[in-house]
Amino acid sequence: MCDKRPFDTRQAASEVIYYLKRSSSRDKIPRRTYFCRYCSAWHLTSETKGEYRARRKWQKGRDKPSRTMRDRRK
Ligand SMILES: [Zn+2]
Repeated sequence: MCDKRPFDTRQAASEVIYYLKRSSSRDKIPRRTYFCRYCSAWHLTSETKGEYRARRKWQKGRDKPSRTMRDRRK
């Protein structure tokens, strides 16, 4: 689970983004929604798709060494 606010549907999350875009004066307002498999709910993120892809790529790269290390222990 994460400490982000969960939404039941993508539409509910999108409506909050729409509202924040109009009313919030913060620099970083959520730009898009994504489904969180840990919470089984939708979250908001201010990350762009490009930033998200870069992070995913980086995490995939991190996963590999740990798997190799586990194999070596056998
Ligand atoms: Zn979550």
